[in-house]
Amino acid sequence: MAPGPNRVFSFVMAAEIPFRRDFSFAYGRLERLGPSLRRIVARNPGPFTFKGTGTYVVGEGEVAVIDPGPDLPEHIETLLEGLQGERVSHILVTHTHRDHSPAAKPLQEKTGAPTYGFGPHMGGRRGEPGVEEGGDFDFLPDRRLCEGDLVAGKGWRLEAIHTPGHTSNHLCFAWKDEGILFSGDHVMGWSTSVIAPPDGDMGAYMASLEKLLARAERLYWPTHGPAIADPKPYVRAFIAHRRERESGVLMCLSEGIEEITRMVERLYIGLDPRLSRAAARSLHAHLLDLSRRGLVECEGPPQLEARWRLHPSAPKG
Ligand SMILES: [Zn+2]
Repeated sequence: MAPGPNRVFSFVMAAEIPFRRDFSFAYGRLERLGPSLRRIVARNPGPFTFKGTGTYVVGEGEVAVIDPGPDLPEHIETLLEGLQGERVSHILVTHTHRDHSPAAKPLQEKTGAPTYGFGPHMGGRRGEPGVEEGGDFDFLPDRRLCEGDLVAGKGWRLEAIHTPGHTSNHLCFAWKDEGILFSGDHVMGWSTSVIAPPDGDMGAYMASLEKLLARAERLYWPTHGPAIADPKPYVRAFIAHRRERESGVLMCLSEGIEEITRMVERLYIGLDPRLSRAAARSLHAHLLDLSRRGLVECEGPPQLEARWRLHPSAPKG
């Protein structure tokens, strides 16, 4: 279906994602969420982190820590105070953004626990201005996990689910026995995920959302914000939202809007100005995906600043 002017008003679509922002927590405390599940929220609130990074503790006595968080010494000190008399046996990382993985190093120094993750950060170069919290180029997991790998400790077992899109090395961790998925930044209740090329990939992200629809977990614990109960309709809303956004990009091109900055003005209504660069990178991700599918093209290299148009042979009407 080709987008037409009559679809203009549907682009306030983000309002239709049933966001969950009701988040009760206290900074500086390891809080119990359920049997063998606790969380401490780091004091790094911001436009990409909501109230801060939620570091999860799985197990009792001998525990795994998921997403140790940013390089904030007080965060790890408070976490370890909350774990007095217990032993950290595993450190798991969903992906290598600076609000997730840097604290793996001080936590490992204090506990000796091995780190687990998909692999090193693959996006851009060190020091390059990016979006979100930026890449952590220092983290390299002791043990690399692939799709379906199991990590087990005392009383728990987690399965690695490779979910590229937000980053190419993003993992979710499924705690099948409890019907729980630690969804990292792939699926969050408070916001959509930032998909910023070159490491962020819209086609991969959509496939990673579809992947979750085929799974049985009933409760998601994202690294930022509250839990998501009944997650499948929510994941479907994210897929619909991105498809709608893609239609918006095609509509812009059919109206002769060729530059991403102007598409942002057209498609993002009431956007927090701090997020405009992230929005531009997200539209860039859509355009790269559309280009790969032969629907759009651009002059010169497919950069953020390029001028885009519909591919002459793309279906019309
Ligand atoms: Zn992230």
